[in-house]
Amino acid sequence: SESNGNGVESSYVKIPQIKFTKLFINGEFVESLSGKTFETIDPRTGEVIAKISEGDKEDIDLAVKAARQAFDHGPWPRLPGSERRKIMLKFADLIDENVEEIAALDTIDGGKLYSFGKIVEIPSVAENLRYYAGAADKIHGATLKMSRELQAYTLCEPIGVVGHIIPWNFPSQMFVMKVGPALAAGCTMVVKPAEQTPLSALYYAHLAKLAGLPDGVLNVVTGYGRTAGAAISSHMDIDKVSFTGSTEVGRLVMQAAALSNLKPVSLELGGKSPFIVFDDVDVDQIASLALQATFFNKGEICVAGSRVFVQEGIYDKFLIKLVEKAKAWVVGDPFDPNVHQGPQVDKNQYERILKFIEIGKKEGATLLTGGKLSNRKGYYIEPTIFTDVSDDMTIAKEEIFGPVMSVLKFKSVEEVIERANATKYGLAAGIMTNDLNIANRVSRSIRAGVIWINCYIAFDKDLPYGGYKMSGFGRDMGMESLNMYLQVKSVATPIYNSPW
Ligand code: NAD
Repeated sequence: SESNGNGVESSYVKIPQIKFTKLFINGEFVESLSGKTFETIDPRTGEVIAKISEGDKEDIDLAVKAARQAFDHGPWPRLPGSERRKIMLKFADLIDENVEEIAALDTIDGGKLYSFGKIVEIPSVAENLRYYAGAADKIHGATLKMSRELQAYTLCEPIGVVGHIIPWNFPSQMFVMKVGPALAAGCTMVVKPAEQTPLSALYYAHLAKLAGLPDGVLNVVTGYGRTAGAAISSHMDIDKVSFTGSTEVGRLVMQAAALSNLKPVSLELGGKSPFIVFDDVDVDQIASLALQATFFNKGEICVAGSRVFVQEGIYDKFLIKLVEKAKAWVVGDPFDPNVHQGPQVDKNQYERILKFIEIGKKEGATLLTGGKLSNRKGYYIEPTIFTDVSDDMTIAKEEIFGPVMSVLKFKSVEEVIERANATKYGLAAGIMTNDLNIANRVSRSIRAGVIWINCYIAFDKDLPYGGYKMSGFGRDMGMESLNMYLQVKSVATPIYNSPW
């Protein structure tokens, strides 16, 4: 087995040295003003990977000052879009050149599958950045047709200094889906990665500098939510906050924004998404998809299709397939290419998920498979499937954010629409059927931001996503997300130079 010198080991790949552990402010890696650090943990073993600088309010102040200076007086917002594009493309190329190292950082920090990171996730981070780089020189307003003798047009201006607060489940994707459009728009920014997974964000900051991004445009302050995060949402000199995380914290962020300078907020929050299986599907194929929908990324995914509604005609057959496939689903070291599921991100999440499993049993659901711990060290949980779940049980209502599926039986289309919508969330939904009429009808009836028909977790840089209801508002990804970082200015002037 290979070690990175810090005692973090793998028998599959060489684990990189941790090069960046300090805050990135105004183009430099610096210690936090307090000198405090926190430990980031390898969930495969529970051991410490590195000590990371712990930013707090005064570090956020410094980062905001740098971002403010870069916005008000620096080149970035004033550059022609094509110049911003060049730097962003360079940044993307540097990500591609370091895919393996970045993927390994997310694996040791977050327990994420290494091969998925290397082959899919990190390359798509570079691609997302290119997508927004391509938008940088195509941002413009409109010429308006006025009813009076006025010439008028709109300007699309960058919104200013942005605060991005991101979660730990997709440290790389979350980083780029916030930073990419904000950079293209000409904003400057402060990013607060999740305390569980700070490593890749610091690495990206280093690459951005190498790519030639001017100092102060991108600042990364690692630290805790209630200190560094809260300092962002309540800051008087931040012009917009973009938050992804829990509904509970989203509410605090919006409140702090309202009580400080009324900065606009966008929130990508939790979900409890329905995955609806109609009688006419290929049972084997859709059972595999259901597993992916709930257990992908160990269930730590906001769009998890964790309420699996199965129509009564195929219910029994479907359950048999699900269990068979769940037993073949391999839990283990996320560096092992044969593994489907690594450890949960940390001890807190691990204990929280186990608690939900206990509640499920207590409330009378039947545990079909899983629910046990594997006997290895680290925060591993087996893929868990409950049946005989009723809509009012805790496991059917609350977001578990772990590998726990609830299977529910239904009879009619009307019934399943009503039950699927009976949730405070509205992030995503899956509709599995070959009947076009059913697919059309259900997709229009579900109140959720993303509908996947005969697929699930099918993300793309061009596909906007975000929530209805308490899953939040605003859209990440796609051209939609650019609007979150722009504002419209109207300019009008008399056509004939006469005083109005
Ligand atoms: P969390 O809300 O606890 O943390 C998210 C981020 O907010 C972290 O960076 C954290 O440090 C920060 N934070 C915590 N308290 C804060 C405060 N008082 N003020 C400002 N910032 C604060 O969420 P989590 O447990 O880390 O992540 C899991 C949650 O994220 C789940 O509910 C999941 O559904 C959600 N999520 C949503 C999406 C989406 O796109 N909708 C994507 C991924 C995760």
